Amino acid sequence: MSMSCDDVRKFIQAYLDGELDEHEWAALSLHLESCASCRREARTEERLRRAVRRSLPLEPAPASLRQRVGTALDAADAERREEDAGRLRRWTLRLVPAAAVIALGLGFLWSRLQGPRPASGLKTSLASLAEQSIEWHRLSPPMDVTATNPEAVQRYFSDKVPFAVRPPVFPAGQRARLVGARLANLREHRAVFVTYQVGGGRVSVFIFDSNALPVAGGRVVRAGGRDVRWQEVRGYNVGLYSAGGTGYAVTSDLDPRGLVQLIAHSH
Ligand SMILES: [Zn+2]
Repeated sequence: MSMSCDDVRKFIQAYLDGELDEHEWAALSLHLESCASCRREARTEERLRRAVRRSLPLEPAPASLRQRVGTALDAADAERREEDAGRLRRWTLRLVPAAAVIALGLGFLWSRLQGPRPASGLKTSLASLAEQSIEWHRLSPPMDVTATNPEAVQRYFSDKVPFAVRPPVFPAGQRARLVGARLANLREHRAVFVTYQVGGGRVSVFIFDSNALPVAGGRVVRAGGRDVRWQEVRGYNVGLYSAGGTGYAVTSDLDPRGLVQLIAHSH
């Protein structure tokens, strides 16, 4: 029995959640052993999960709920540990690749946190959008307008694109400084590309009409009162959210946690 990369991507969540039966689990493990790209995907997932767990204090739940959930999780964790121990005994000697060992024991909490699975259909995939965002981020093209003031950028584009361009404002604590903006295309749609200096690095933001360009895919994280879709590609993290019909695709080489924090505290 062999699995295609597509199958693996489909089942990777269930795999990390420990929800596959033994045959599926073995098939997927075998695939991971021989496929570097799926292994990378599994590691990325795993890192995202950790980042999400670390960033939870950004959205404190009411104390009563926390307590209820905590109790339920403790019980489930104990159960899960026993299950995992059983699985591990059955499979370790046969074919456990490193990635599977890393993945074991993860994820119960994630399954509680995760939003709906990505919808398919006519939406643009976040993965392809992320590729494009990263190209621009790396290219760092010259700006049409250099301004450290978001209002100046908004004024500049007011008669150039059919949507409001409000560059995100990152709080002073994040040491993010607006550098400038330029017209761009995202897929076949008009967009505005904005760059910031953050600490020693850079953050780029594509601003676009999220009704004209709906996006699916990635993992959903709740941060700063928003649903943020996530994708890591080639060492870059791209976080996507929308507010008032405007979409924002934020690209940086910050680690996932840094980017979650940045987006959570922007306005
Ligand atoms: Zn693969």
